[in-house]
Amino acid sequence: MSDGETTSNSGDGQRKVFVKTYGCQMNVYDSQRMADALARDGFVETDAPDNADMVLLNTCHIREKAAEKVYSEIGRLRQLRDRRRKGGADMMIGVAGCVAQAEGREMIARAPAVDFVIGPTTYHRLPDVVARARGGEKVVETEFAVEDKFEHLPRQQARRVQRRGVAAFLTVQEGCDKFCTFCVVPYTRGAEVSRPVAQIVEEARRLVGAGVREITLLGQNVNAWHGEGADGRSWGLGELLHELAGIEGLARLRYTTSHPRDMDDALIAAHRDLDVLMPYLHLPVQAGSDRVLKAMNRRHTADDYRRLVDRIRAARPDIALSGDFIVGFPGETDDDFEDTMRLVRDVTYAQAFSFKYSPRPATPGADMAGHVDEQVKSERLARLQALLAEQQAGFMQQLVGKEVSVLLEKPGREPGQLVGRSPFLQPVICDETVGKIGDIATVRIGRASANSLISEPMQRRRHAA
Ligand code: SAM
Ligand code: SF4
Repeated sequence: MSDGETTSNSGDGQRKVFVKTYGCQMNVYDSQRMADALARDGFVETDAPDNADMVLLNTCHIREKAAEKVYSEIGRLRQLRDRRRKGGADMMIGVAGCVAQAEGREMIARAPAVDFVIGPTTYHRLPDVVARARGGEKVVETEFAVEDKFEHLPRQQARRVQRRGVAAFLTVQEGCDKFCTFCVVPYTRGAEVSRPVAQIVEEARRLVGAGVREITLLGQNVNAWHGEGADGRSWGLGELLHELAGIEGLARLRYTTSHPRDMDDALIAAHRDLDVLMPYLHLPVQAGSDRVLKAMNRRHTADDYRRLVDRIRAARPDIALSGDFIVGFPGETDDDFEDTMRLVRDVTYAQAFSFKYSPRPATPGADMAGHVDEQVKSERLARLQALLAEQQAGFMQQLVGKEVSVLLEKPGREPGQLVGRSPFLQPVICDETVGKIGDIATVRIGRASANSLISEPMQRRRHAA
């Protein structure tokens, strides 16, 4: 069955699937690819569970209570299904993502309403899993797949790509071999795997052919990506970005998330040499104390990170830096935390994410001595977030009065507005007369709010995309 064909069981001629995505961009991409796989089976996407023939929860396990949230959601869905059954309809419940991977068969035992559980490396088997579940089997598909899932997932259809907008994600790397002691990813996503160059370039061309202007390459450790290039040499992400930059019609490239140890010279040079590579880099450091970094198994020091940032800024002075921070890792003292504050002051971030340490089952951090009191974690997080917010506001303010290019992505909240992104990733609210969706408009920033920039209506200019 081809994309968009339907089979009937919902009364209006279409089987509907509601996919609920938790967590990171990689899950957003996975949800899209699962929806593509289900489209071949006649499912169309719906934006509410109430009228869905199938609800698929694409879960995240990165921090605490993730599994509990999923079980509560399943409880609500079971009640919804009971109501649908009274009306003569039905609803299948599937759980995907990292909670599915971590819980496996346990999930069916604890929540018998679940029809199937599928882990992140086996999404290409989704149609088969659904067919077996429809036959009454409780399916658990959480073995790490040996075959290449991307080889077997259906290609993205132009119509579906267009519906998703002009900025797209493209996963190039999955899994992680780094084993930071706080993190579940190596256990839920498995070992590091890089997609081959040809497969990535083909997918990028398809996206651009369907109207995509900006591609963000994704990976748990995207800059650990490596593959054999067209010249037979082993390529890193820098070389891959050069290859993709040659795709006609592609206006912007980004990548996330990077590990400091994998920022090699070629990747740093790409920030200097490639105009399409946007001046934004998410480069998590997690902590500013060498003792804590060692306990986290990050395998670099705070000064290594400072020097790396200097090299990146030498290559691309206007780059907007973003990061991730964890406060209250086991054994973190007041002095260790002050080291984190000092690092943040030294580096200056345009934007950042910060979290209280959350012990994850089966990770070494969970069994370490010296767990930090919740109250102390909250106080440290509040101080760190205040500093990061101040830096973010400073970054936004220095753009006021300047001209920036904006990729126009969608209508704004108010009539007459369009919203796009600056090169530095902030949302920019523009007057709709600056261009149409998919254009790159140059606008002057009139003012900044906490999280977005507002363009100056009187001094706009427009140029063709
Ligand atoms: N691979 C990326 C790196 O090494 O920086 C991070 C990927 S992880 C999915 C995203 C972020 O979640 C991490 O950078 C970290 O700040 C946060 N995180 C992961 N495990 C955590 C935990 N146990 N408690 C709190 N935050 C956590
Ligand atoms: Fe998790 Fe560390 Fe791997 Fe990032 S590098 S995914 S934080 S184990």
